Order: sequence, then C-alpha cells, then structure tokens
Amino acid sequence: MDCLFCKIIKGEIPSNKVYEDELIYAFRDINPQAPIHVLIIPKTHIASADEVNSENSAVIAHLFAKIPAIAKEQGLTGGYRIVTNCGDDACQSVHHLHFHLLGGRKLSETMS
Ligand code: AMP
Ligand code: ZN
Repeated sequence: MDCLFCKIIKGEIPSNKVYEDELIYAFRDINPQAPIHVLIIPKTHIASADEVNSENSAVIAHLFAKIPAIAKEQGLTGGYRIVTNCGDDACQSVHHLHFHLLGGRKLSETMS
C-alpha cells in the first residue's frame, strides 16, 4: 500500500520521532502550525476516524491514554489541542488516521 505514514512507521521515509511503542508512533509535523505540532498515529493502517470500529478501537484507546505523557514531555503545561481531520470536507490530506497535537502558545478560539 502506498501510504506515506506507513512508510514513516517503517522508517522508509525519515521523520522526527518524539514517541514510539508497539502500537503507536508520534513525530513532528513537517509544516508546524504551532510551536509544538506533533502527529500521533496508530501503527496499524486505519484510513481515518471514519474507519474506527469495535475491531480496531483498542489502539485508539491506547493512543489517547498516551497523549498526556506525550504532551507533558513536550512541555505543554498550559494545555493543548487534539485534532483529527476526517475526509474531504475537513481537508484530510494523508489517509492514515492521525491526531494533531498542537500547543506551545494560546491557540485560536475557532476551529473551523
Ligand atoms: P491532514 O491535513 O490533517 O491530513 O494532516 C496531514 C499532516 O501531515 C499535515 O499537517 C502535514 O504537514 C503533515 N505531513 C505531511 N507529510 C509529512 C511528513 N513527511 N512528515 C511529517 N509530517 C508530514
Ligand atoms: Zn498507512
């Protein structure tokens, strides 16, 4: 499968890793939109939030359980935002589920 983030997980494309375990991988966004902009992804290929179901949701629960530690390690003591873009209307550009972890400054009140 020709998936950019699967290639990053396999090390075929370089990335700036901030966290990894057996189920998830986290790395810096190449085009950061905040002082801290990390992408957190499941190692299993799930195309988007719309593809999450009872068969694969355990990895998503694990990913969310790790977010506080990743945020703390990034120094996000003032708070942070977690965003996932799903589908064309949300301008999802990489079709491997990823959660944007954004922070390091006061973020916009608007999300749309
Ligand atoms: P989205 O538009 O929500 O699908 O987000 C995709 C994100 O992936 C964007 O914020 C891009 O800047 C980021 N991105 C694309 N290619 C890479 C890459 N090779 N390494 C790190 N981040 C990337
Ligand atoms: Zn993938």
